[in-house]
Amino acid sequence: MRKHIVAGNWKMHKTHTETLALLDEILSKKQNSDTEIIVAPTFINLKAANDEVVGKGITVAAQNMHQAEGGAFTGEIAANMLTDINVNTVILGHSERRAYFHESDGLLANKVDTALKHNMRVIFCFGEELKDRQKNNHFNIVEYQLRDALFHLEKKDWKNIVLAYEPVWAIGTGETASPEQAQEMHKFIRSIIEKVYGSDIANDVSILYGGSVKPSNAKEIFSKPDVDGGLIGGAALHADDFLAIVNAF
Ligand code: 13P
Repeated sequence: MRKHIVAGNWKMHKTHTETLALLDEILSKKQNSDTEIIVAPTFINLKAANDEVVGKGITVAAQNMHQAEGGAFTGEIAANMLTDINVNTVILGHSERRAYFHESDGLLANKVDTALKHNMRVIFCFGEELKDRQKNNHFNIVEYQLRDALFHLEKKDWKNIVLAYEPVWAIGTGETASPEQAQEMHKFIRSIIEKVYGSDIANDVSILYGGSVKPSNAKEIFSKPDVDGGLIGGAALHADDFLAIVNAF
């Protein structure tokens, strides 16, 4: 059975001191719930963040990693560097990585393989741009992204995959997909996974929505049957807003 997840992608925000302060505030204010809480601080703060939350019901994730096992890749981070500090979840394919760092679905397929080889869980991000939706091409784009990055996987791999549908036009813009648009796309995503992998895997995979989720719209978005949680940017940088979103389930 799939679970509810609310993940905060902190992007390139928060110093070391600010990271620990925000985590402490989240820890002190969070209520018990069945929703998994994930936070993804920057690389240099991952270990301190993980040490801070260990055993306290929050999972720490990385925002990216390199596909190689190691080597001469200045500035990059390998999977075993994450797992060695007990960071076993990684966000891959975020639209900002795709747009600013030219990550293609082919490259992301390699990153996903490396993460799974290290028994990591992948939060795989994808979603159409505004021009795709305006041309009514958004379903095709999403299907191709999933096909090219994930559909080489075997059935057994899917227990470590979480999907995050993030329409690019809704990220950081204040413009959210309507709950109906999110549900329509999430249902479509589940249907193509069912076609390729069968209904058990389609029903078990958690599909998060991301793009301007706020305390004021989270409840309605999360009420949709195929929306299993959220990947939160801006609102995840404030403990009260983030926890209000977590508590929207
Ligand atoms: P915002 O919530 O700021 O729109 O960002 C969404 C996002 O990109 C999460 O990964």
